[in-house]
Amino acid sequence: MGRKEGVATKLARVGVGFDRQFGSISVPIYQTAIYRYRKFGENLGYDYSRSENPTRRALEDAIAELEGGARGLAFSSGMAAITAVATLFSPGDEVLVCDDLYGGTYRLFQEIVARYGVTFTYADLSDLSVVEAHLSRGTVKAVFIETPTNPLLKVIDVVEVGKRAKEAGALFIVDSTFLSPYLMRPIEYGADIVVHSATKYLGGHNDLIGGLVVAADGELGERLYFIQKAAGAILGPFDSWVLLRGMKTLAVRMEKAQENAEKLARFLADHPKVTDVYFPGLPDHPGRDVHFRQARGPGAVLSFRLHESVHVPTFFNSLRVVNLAESLGGVESLTTHPATMTHADIPPEEREKLGITDSLVRISVGIEDGDDIVADVGEAIERASTSPPPS
Ligand SMILES: *Cc1c(COP(=O)(O)O)cnc(C)c1O
Repeated sequence: MGRKEGVATKLARVGVGFDRQFGSISVPIYQTAIYRYRKFGENLGYDYSRSENPTRRALEDAIAELEGGARGLAFSSGMAAITAVATLFSPGDEVLVCDDLYGGTYRLFQEIVARYGVTFTYADLSDLSVVEAHLSRGTVKAVFIETPTNPLLKVIDVVEVGKRAKEAGALFIVDSTFLSPYLMRPIEYGADIVVHSATKYLGGHNDLIGGLVVAADGELGERLYFIQKAAGAILGPFDSWVLLRGMKTLAVRMEKAQENAEKLARFLADHPKVTDVYFPGLPDHPGRDVHFRQARGPGAVLSFRLHESVHVPTFFNSLRVVNLAESLGGVESLTTHPATMTHADIPPEEREKLGITDSLVRISVGIEDGDDIVADVGEAIERASTSPPPS
């Protein structure tokens, strides 16, 4: 008694026990918009599926438990989830954001939310003195981070940033898409809100777009639930079910993907045509110690720079196992060219400054045979090389 279940157990068991009526082990898909009242003034707790739906509720309870929060909420996409969180801000609020950010979030903040009088300040929050300098101004109302960041895999200290945000009275929001609750639970380190693009590791099969928000405390959970209900960007019952199903295998998928990512990172680190490899699992990664204090594994996304003698388009066109596609976190290995794909919305000068150059490649390592992935990337570099390896 009293023994805490491991995360893999919690994951495999999501939704189990939900159906009290028939004992269905898989959560039923309540494909319904509305619910009939039993009699005047009395329903069974559901009235309209924008407000609540039992299948979505099973998912929302599952993610709340996995993250150790008070309330989970499911949205139609990761961006819808982040939009809902952003509507907590008011005109005049300043939000401190990590500079190496998912491109879509940057676009949302700059092109849409900023029009409502919210100011976003971008800075390298992997440097705690930078965090302190901004918070000491006394105007920051919220801190929004991703770790490891995208696409340069910079590590932000969730514990230390969380502490400083709390002292400054700022809301601390973590986009935990890259690690998933299997590898890190930011609420344990002081996050007030965790968001996920469930399209990535939680769904895991590149067959669904979805987003999740978890609030650490009930009051904030209620505020976010009100926003979800009022704004209405909910996840439908079928997609909620697909997501629950995907989540069950998160632990095994992540273990295998990480093993493959470590293999590929080691191969690239030794490759004469690769100049830099960004992966928290490598011994010389500058954020490695901080990362492993807060996460139980390196994750399975890595980036690297091709040597200037490698023709970048030919590299991408030569891949056979790794797919050129704009996402991460699924069973299939995917690669993107951040400068022209995921981060194309960031102005070129800003991109250069951040280090998102044309030679940068990001790979989300999947669960294929690791040797096949390594061979594929190795052969593509070979084919794209316009000169012999630098000596
Ligand atoms: C993909 C992604 C998002 C956006 O999620 P969608 O489901 O595509 O809307 C947000 N944050 C991060 C870190 C992501 O990778």
